[in-house]
Amino acid sequence: GSTIGILGGGQLGRMMAMSAAQLGYRAIGYAPPGDNVASTACADFFENGWGETEAIAAFASQCDIVTWEFENVPLGAVEAIPENMLAPHPVALGIAQDRLQEKAFVEQIGAQCAPYLRVESDEDFATAVERIGAPGILKTARDGYDGKGQWRIANAHGAQGVRFPGRPCIYEGMVQFETEFSVILVRGNDGQIRFWDSSANTHEGGMLVHSVLPAGSRVEAQVAEARTIAAKTAEALKYVGVLTLEFFATESGPVFNEMAPRVHNSGHWTIEGAATSQFENHIRAICGLPLGETATRFASIDMRNIVGKDALTAHQILAEEGEPHLHLYGKREAKDGRKMGHVTRVSHTLP
Ligand code: ATP
Ligand code: MG
Ligand code: MG
Repeated sequence: GSTIGILGGGQLGRMMAMSAAQLGYRAIGYAPPGDNVASTACADFFENGWGETEAIAAFASQCDIVTWEFENVPLGAVEAIPENMLAPHPVALGIAQDRLQEKAFVEQIGAQCAPYLRVESDEDFATAVERIGAPGILKTARDGYDGKGQWRIANAHGAQGVRFPGRPCIYEGMVQFETEFSVILVRGNDGQIRFWDSSANTHEGGMLVHSVLPAGSRVEAQVAEARTIAAKTAEALKYVGVLTLEFFATESGPVFNEMAPRVHNSGHWTIEGAATSQFENHIRAICGLPLGETATRFASIDMRNIVGKDALTAHQILAEEGEPHLHLYGKREAKDGRKMGHVTRVSHTLP
C-alpha cells in the first residue's frame, strides 16, 4: 500500500512517519486531541477520540495499512478497522495491554517472571504482600507507561502507606538485577526474524533514561535465551513488525518484565547506530518489503533521553565533540518527567 495510517501521536509515531516518508509512503495519523508531535511528520493528522468509531473507520478508509505507536489504543478503536488492514495483528495489543495476561502468555512460552499476583481489592493486596513479600511493586494492570501507575512497597510494614487504587492491579516481587536489557526484533510477513543488539537500559523513577552498547558480559551471556523467548512470542502472535520484550539480567538468568508490541525507546540508537533502524524495519515489515540488516555499526553507542526542562538548552549539545545526534520531538511544553528528545553518541572505539 502507499498510505500508512498510524494510531497514536507521540514521538514513536513521528519517527515511524519519517521512515515511511523516506521509503516513499504517505503517512497519516490519528490520535485524541493533544500535543500530537507525530502530526508534523505526517501528511495529514486526524484528532478525534478513541471512542469515535466512525471517525476511525473514515481514517482507515484512507489508508492501505494501519499500525500503531502506542500500545494502549483501546481495542474498541482498533475493532473499527478491518482486521486485514492492521499490522501487527491486534491480538498482540490485547495481550500487551494487560500485565497479567502478558506475563501469563510469555511465561507459558518458557520465560521466568518475578513472582506476581492479581490484586483487585484491599484484601487481595494484603494477601499478595503477605505471600510474595516485600520489597515489591504494585502496578495498575492496564494503562501504565514510564513508571506511571506504580507504587513501590519497601517492606511489608511500609505497605500500610500504599492503598489499593481501586483499579485492577498486579503485585510483583522486586527483582534483584544487575542490568536491564531489551530484545527488539522485527518479524516480516514471511516469518523471518531479525534482532538488533540488546542495549543495557537504565531507568529513573520507572522511566527509561539511558541505553548503552555494548551492554556488558552479564547481558551478553543472557541475550540468546531472551531472544529465544522473544522469537517464540512473536511466532505465537503471528507478529508482523517490531516487537520489544524487556528483561532483567539476574543471577538466575533473564527475567521477563513486559512487552511492547511496537518500536521502543531503548531502540532509538538504531537510527544512527544500526544498518537499518527499528522504525524503517517496522515500516518495511508491515508493507511486506524485504527487511534491512540490523547489525550495529559502531563499537560503542550511548543514547540518552532529554527529559523535561533539559530540552530548553538541548541545542548546546550540537557544539560537542564527536558525533552527537540530536533528536527533539517538538513537544510544546517541557514538563517534568516528559520525554522531549534524545541524543545518540556513537564511537568507533570502546568507552
Ligand atoms: P515502560 O515505559 O517501559 O512501558 P512501564 O510503566 O510499563 O514502563 P515497567 O516497565 O513495568 O513499567 O517498570 C518500569 C521500571 O521499573 C522497570 O524498567 C524497572 O526498572 C522497574 N521495575 C518494574 N518492575 C520491577 C520489578 N518487579 N523488579 C524490579 N524492578 C522493577
Ligand atoms: Mg510498559
Ligand atoms: Mg517497561
